Amino acid sequence: MPRETRESAALFERARAVTPGGVNSPVRAFNAVGGTPRFIASARGAWLTDVDGHEYVDLICSWGPMLLGHAHPEVEAAVREAIARGTSYGTPTRPEVELAEEIVARTPVERVRFVSSGTEATMSAIRLARGFTGRDLVVKFAGCYHGHVDALLASAGSGLATFAVPGTPGVPASSTELTLVLPYNDRAAVEKVFAEHGDRIACLVTEASPGNMGVVPPEPGFNRFLAETCRQHGALFVSDEVMTGFRVSREGQWGLDGKTEGWRPDLVTFGKVMGGGFPAAAFGGRADVMHQLAPEGPVYQAGTLSGNPIATTAGLTTLRLATDAVYAHLHHVADTIKAATSEALGAAGVPHVVQATGTMFSVFFTDAGPDGAVRDFDDAQRTDSAAYAAFFHAMLEAGVHLPPSAYEAWFVSAAHDDRAVQTVLDALPAAARAAAA
Ligand code: PLP
Repeated sequence: MPRETRESAALFERARAVTPGGVNSPVRAFNAVGGTPRFIASARGAWLTDVDGHEYVDLICSWGPMLLGHAHPEVEAAVREAIARGTSYGTPTRPEVELAEEIVARTPVERVRFVSSGTEATMSAIRLARGFTGRDLVVKFAGCYHGHVDALLASAGSGLATFAVPGTPGVPASSTELTLVLPYNDRAAVEKVFAEHGDRIACLVTEASPGNMGVVPPEPGFNRFLAETCRQHGALFVSDEVMTGFRVSREGQWGLDGKTEGWRPDLVTFGKVMGGGFPAAAFGGRADVMHQLAPEGPVYQAGTLSGNPIATTAGLTTLRLATDAVYAHLHHVADTIKAATSEALGAAGVPHVVQATGTMFSVFFTDAGPDGAVRDFDDAQRTDSAAYAAFFHAMLEAGVHLPPSAYEAWFVSAAHDDRAVQTVLDALPAAARAAAA
């Protein structure tokens, strides 16, 4: 008997009558996998409970933020205390100073400014890079997502450097004609575009380790190469750590490459984990660049709820609890699930590639690219979405909620204990057979 979804279906119908697609962010609608999205009534630890009363092990973790799991008692207590003191003042507060200090201590940034979403963070970082350099062009990579910033909602046919065409109606060509899109992990394409346009490029923005086309890690030395190329040409290197920051390691992706290799990005964007499940994000970087920002400098940027005391309290408490032991646990859980998924898919004869950066991973339902790995958006797009949809629904029926799209990272938390992991492992063989069918 399939799980009953009457309440979710009823809410979905009501939602569609008042909200486009019934959701407030497109992927939640299940369009990529079909079926009824589960409306979640509550969550605790590693588990979601839907409005029909079914429980699921959560491998979405709110698309990254819930590093400690849901309703962590200490985060909950800190937030309750903060709410009792009022929820927003529009003045400076202590928690935002302390969260900024924590971020500066952990990462390569010298100054940080808070905003409310990752989209705002990358939008503001680009404005600042343009203001600082006095240049207009922005370079990005196909398959990298930086939020729904007009200038970055662009992809171009990969393989060639092209001035981008908008990826969606509503973005005028004039918004993306200053954006250049390159294939990821392609040094020759980067060299070529800087050779041709280097003196007009304000910044190159990249996901520190892409997670929005599935997890496609930078090849060894690639981020350093990008940082050096930018420096040679007087452009800024903007590392988008909205997804990877405080997730893939204590210090984000920079802790896995920049710190050991001895280089720093000029600007970094953060979001997700640093908000502890509340709307908080940030951009930061070199003091001389950040100094250009209002009110110190001329580049305007602002926000009514920026640095909100509840969100910064949740983020600060989360980061303080995100110790080395937490990251060791996340690694263990991720490694166990990766290995078991690969084994189950292999046994069922389903072509797949598992890729990871730090504690973040994803499974591509495809053969590896020519060099044995998924290294760019072209490779990623060979994913068999129908096989993933069958796998996804079998997992869902067995009580495991994966991301409802084949192109997303899978996220685990400190709360994924043996019972949660075992539920995933038990579900895998039948789901793999469903994917093979
Ligand atoms: N940058 C990256 C790397 C992201 O993964 C996302 C969201 O998934 C964003 C930016 C946008 O963040 P938000 O959804 O908070 O606007």
